[in-house]
Amino acid sequence: MKEESKLIRTQAKRSENREHSVPLYLTSSFIFDDAEQGRAIFADEIEGNVYSRYSNPNTSEFIDKVCALEEGEAGLAFSSGMAAVFASFAALLKSGDHVVSFRSVFGSTHQLLTTLFPRWGITSTYVDASNPEGVYDAIQENTKMIFLETPSNPGLELVDLEWLCKIKEKHPNIIINVDNCFATPYLQKPLKYGVDIVSHSATKYMDGQGRVLGGVVVGRKDLIKEMMFFIRHTGPAMSAFNAWLLSKSLETLPLRMDRHCSNALAVAEFLETMSEDIEVVMYPHLPSHPQYELAKKQMKQGGGIVTFVVKGGAKRASEFLDSLNMILFSSNLGDSRSIATHPATTTHSKLSEQERQNIGIFQGTIRLSVGLENIDDLKHDLEQALKKSR
Ligand SMILES: *Cc1c(COP(=O)(O)O)cnc(C)c1O
Repeated sequence: MKEESKLIRTQAKRSENREHSVPLYLTSSFIFDDAEQGRAIFADEIEGNVYSRYSNPNTSEFIDKVCALEEGEAGLAFSSGMAAVFASFAALLKSGDHVVSFRSVFGSTHQLLTTLFPRWGITSTYVDASNPEGVYDAIQENTKMIFLETPSNPGLELVDLEWLCKIKEKHPNIIINVDNCFATPYLQKPLKYGVDIVSHSATKYMDGQGRVLGGVVVGRKDLIKEMMFFIRHTGPAMSAFNAWLLSKSLETLPLRMDRHCSNALAVAEFLETMSEDIEVVMYPHLPSHPQYELAKKQMKQGGGIVTFVVKGGAKRASEFLDSLNMILFSSNLGDSRSIATHPATTTHSKLSEQERQNIGIFQGTIRLSVGLENIDDLKHDLEQALKKSR
C-alpha cells in the first residue's frame, strides 16, 4: 500500500463487536487470559498490553501510522512534543555527555539544553546551520548526539540531511536526532538519509486542528527499546483519547498538507509582490530562498509556514497584526485556521536582540502559519492589513 492508504487502513485489531471505526480504549490496565499469559508478557516472551503507561491499542495504532509514514522501525508516543524531545535526550544521554545542536531550536528545547541538562552534567554547543563545517569543529570526544530542526522556526533555514549524515563515516556512534515537526513526515523523511531518530510535536500538523497535545519519537529499534525503559518508569505516556484523536487526524494529513502547502506557496508569492510593504519573504519552495535547490531535493513541498519582514519594524508589525480581520494572533501553528505570530515579542522574546538576529528574527518579522481557508480570503486579509498599517 502507498502511504496515504496506510494512514487510513492501519487499524487496531477489530473487536468481536465488528466496529468499522476504531473505538476509544479508555482503560488503565488490561487483564490476562491466565496466569501463564501474565508471566510470559512480563518476561517479554510474548507481546501484550499490560498497563496504559506502557502501551494501549490507541497509542499503538497512532505509533504504527507514524512509523509507516517516517519509514521507522519502531516508535513511542508521548503526552506532548516536549515530553518526546526531553525523552529523546534524557533516555539516551548520561552525565558527562555532550550534544551538538543547531542554534535555531524550539524555545523549550533551548531551555532544556542551556538550563536543565547542565544540572545533570550534560553539556551542549550551538552551531550555525549555514556553516556545515562548524558541525565538525564542534564535535568533542564526548559528543553523543547531534540535534536539529529543519526547516528552522521561524527563519526557515534548512539543514542538508544527506550532507549531515556523512558525519557518520567518521563518527558512527553519534546519534542524529531530528525534530521533524515543521515539515511533517509527509513532506520530509529524515530517517531515509541515515538519521537515527526523529522527534515530533504531534500537537501541530498531526492534529492539525489545534485540539490536543501529543508527541512521538520514531527510528532505530535499539534506541527506541532503550527509550522504552525510560518511559515505562518515568510516565510521559500519551493518553488513549489523544492517541485515538491523533490517529484519526493522520488519515487526512496528506490531504491537509497538500492544501497547507499550496496555500502557503500562493501566499508567499503574493507577499513578494507587496514589495512596498515587505522587506523579504522566506518560504523554502520560493526560488528566492537561499537554499531553494536543497529545499526542492529534501522537501516534497515547501510546508505551511511563511515568514516575512514588514517594513517599519516593531511598530508596523504590531499595527499589521491588529489590523488582521480573519487571521488570528496566537503562538501556535499547524492549525486549519491561519495564525500570525510576532516572534520577537512572543515565542523568542527570551533571546537577546543579537541572538534573535543570528537566527533571522527582526522586529518586523511575522511568522504566518497558513491554514486551510480559501486562498482569496487569505490574500484579501493580508493585503487590507498591510495597507491599513502603512
Ligand atoms: C511545538 C513544538 C515543540 C513542542 O511541542 P509541544 O507539543 O507543544 O510540547 C517542539 N518542537 C517544535 C519544532 C515545535 O514546533
